[in-house]
Amino acid sequence: MIVKTKIMTKKRYNNRYKFWYDTPFDKEYIKNLFGDGWQELIENAFRVVSYFPNAQICSAKRFYGMLHMYATADDEFNLHVIEGILWKVERLSAKICEHCGKQGRRRKELKETRCLCNNCYLEFLNKAEDPRTLFMEGREGRFKEE
Ligand SMILES: [Zn+2]
Repeated sequence: MIVKTKIMTKKRYNNRYKFWYDTPFDKEYIKNLFGDGWQELIENAFRVVSYFPNAQICSAKRFYGMLHMYATADDEFNLHVIEGILWKVERLSAKICEHCGKQGRRRKELKETRCLCNNCYLEFLNKAEDPRTLFMEGREGRFKEE
């Protein structure tokens, strides 16, 4: 049985990876929230967390263009270790295009930051902006390879 960490204490706000939603998300739900590029990352994170007894990933969101997941565990030490793993997953996701899985970059100039490779970014912008303005002077820097 999963024992949630104490609710409504001040402490929970100090830790970014601690679960604080009412309804936990399951794996399929989390996978549906994001594009194909992050599916493997999510799958691997769930696999690694499943090695810990009575622990699970229970929520996820996009956090400044990165995959940010929350976990719960009944053992305080295990939870700390899992948070370390989820932190690493978050850092990995900052370099993986969330649409296709190739090397991407966080597009911080978007209203909601997304991590996209150049091709997917262009595709994304084509939908969001007038395509004729995409390569106007001073804006072409967005597609520079790093
Ligand atoms: Zn891509």
